[in-house]
Amino acid sequence: GATIGFLGGGQLGRMTAFAARSMGYDIQVLDPDAACAARAVASRTITAPFDDIAAAVELAKSCDVVTLEIEQIHPDVLDAVAEHTALRPGRAPVYIIQDRIRQKEWLHAQGFPLGAFVAAASAADVEAAVREHGACIAKSTHGGYDGRGQVRLREPEQAADAWEALGGRTCLVEKMVSIDYEISVMVARRPGGEMAVYPPSRNHHTSGILTWAVIPAVIAPEMSEKAQSLASAITERIGIVGLLAVECFVTTEGELLVNELAPRPHNTYHHSERGLATSQFEQLVRAVCDLPLGSTEVHAPSAIVNLLGEVWLQHEPPHTTHALQVPGSRLHLYGKAGARGGRKMGHLSAVGESAQQALGRVLESYRRLSPETIASFDVHEPVLAR
Ligand code: ATP
Ligand code: MG
Ligand code: MG
Repeated sequence: GATIGFLGGGQLGRMTAFAARSMGYDIQVLDPDAACAARAVASRTITAPFDDIAAAVELAKSCDVVTLEIEQIHPDVLDAVAEHTALRPGRAPVYIIQDRIRQKEWLHAQGFPLGAFVAAASAADVEAAVREHGACIAKSTHGGYDGRGQVRLREPEQAADAWEALGGRTCLVEKMVSIDYEISVMVARRPGGEMAVYPPSRNHHTSGILTWAVIPAVIAPEMSEKAQSLASAITERIGIVGLLAVECFVTTEGELLVNELAPRPHNTYHHSERGLATSQFEQLVRAVCDLPLGSTEVHAPSAIVNLLGEVWLQHEPPHTTHALQVPGSRLHLYGKAGARGGRKMGHLSAVGESAQQALGRVLESYRRLSPETIASFDVHEPVLAR
């Protein structure tokens, strides 16, 4: 059978690899960590840094197609891979997305809706942005995820410290948006342009890290359709093959804004493995292998809660038996060796008859799994109807 290569062997690569293997594909992975999560599912793991061109070429030469689970891959490495095999997604969309400023400027130039932002080249620029816009978030241009590499500012006087904290390098400063709720839309696209758009997921973050996600989002149908057309338009314009996750804010004024893009599977669609006709992981395999895309229909409302290292640091082992007594719940661990604060170790999921029930169940399952860490997360259950 054909072989799929992965740049990155974290949990996203691992879950995609499970789906790929079920479909008869062989998996090879390149990751700097010899103990990476995808290792157990791959027939071969190349341990090398992501800027190692020779290692990437070695992967490319033994694979029919190469995809990725992280966007921080140097364009020279992407070019080297593309010389030897099909690279999906290709260099162009990844290049735009991997730099936060470039991504925002591209979205702005294409006319997609964004909150106010500034590319700050000095502490003085950061200060000016806060004077103009009020509360802001400064974000490093490369490599940030789960809210890392971000500093929140309320006063212009905090600019010097923020600039320092981000390493004294050019950064993106965004006006703090007044968020009503957050959603994301996943889109899959084949080489010939065929697309499949998922219904929006509703997402909740604590300190910049995803706490829970639920699908369907239970928002006004007009907002749902608007978000889906926005995500499809971005996908088409950026010309990606594979998956594109579009993270959005809906403001307290009812405006739909793009937060950021991800050219890969996304944490907010882990529930797609439970209640949807086609999981995001299977969909990625279909897209990059140029197979017919699967239905994005929601068969059962589904929700997930992230399990961070804190769970294990507080109480080892977690109270799994209690957690799994919740109807419709399931535990998915990524097989990572060391628990560290903020490290994503796995997730709980639940299905239900409604999104509200699925979310209620997964939050209850979380409370039972780790009563010790409830205080660190916002597990309060909102009323989803709108
Ligand atoms: P990810 O893990 O999704 O890649 P990230 O580190 O790239 O996260 P962002 O998506 O930029 O971070 O921000 C994380 C969260 O912080 C958002 O989902 C949102 O809750 C909050 N946030 C980010 N930017 C803003 C903003 N401009 N206004 C208000 N809240 C924001
Ligand atoms: Mg991000
Ligand atoms: Mg994000």
